[in-house]
Amino acid sequence: MEKIVDFQIKNMNKKGGTMEIILASNNKNKLKEITNILKPFDIKVISQESAGFDIDVEETGTTFAENAVLKAEAIYHLSKKPVISDDSGLEIDYLHGEPGIYSKRYAGANATNQDRINKILNLMENAKEEERTARFVCAVCYIDEKGEKHLFQETCEGTILKEPRGENGFGYDPIFLYKDRTFAQMNGQEKDKVSHRGKALRRMAEYFKGENKN
Ligand code: IMP
Repeated sequence: MEKIVDFQIKNMNKKGGTMEIILASNNKNKLKEITNILKPFDIKVISQESAGFDIDVEETGTTFAENAVLKAEAIYHLSKKPVISDDSGLEIDYLHGEPGIYSKRYAGANATNQDRINKILNLMENAKEEERTARFVCAVCYIDEKGEKHLFQETCEGTILKEPRGENGFGYDPIFLYKDRTFAQMNGQEKDKVSHRGKALRRMAEYFKGENKN
């Protein structure tokens, strides 16, 4: 289990008004979710692409937190501006925590979401109901303008279905059941309210708001 540095945003660049942070990611689904989650906090998310950084950072870390740091650091070194990154994935107990940090590349580099989902459904063919527990994990790394790193990690517990359900969301959403619906059966707002990503980013933003009172 990685050591998560507690989040202490003292130097976020907010002196009233909207603040801007670059998102160190080329994932359009993450960009959409993160933009919506941070909007109520007056935090504007600039995509890595529109900030002019055309890089794809190799995820060589052994934990979500390490990979989040690698991605945020790479963009911070180029921009010297506040950056956030998100490293996330699905941990399935029956598969001993897989796909975990390998969630994006679980069925090989050129595989589709459907290929990854099929791989999991096949591997779990014989798993009983009570053996299908899983969680999404999200590590968010924020690097402030001074280059200080702050990490937050959150999870969302659920179970893996036997077949996909729903059309919304991305990645493993159609097989991840949260209470009585999959993430792919929820609209964006419903997912953000309970998701690993929503929880991690709100904790970051709420802390930041508290630090900037008065
Ligand atoms: P990475 O953080 O870029 O390494 O990729 C995370 C991968 O985990 C994504 O490509 C998805 O396959 C999966 N993942 C992360 N968050 C979610 C989510 O909210 N829903 C569905 N799949 C997710």
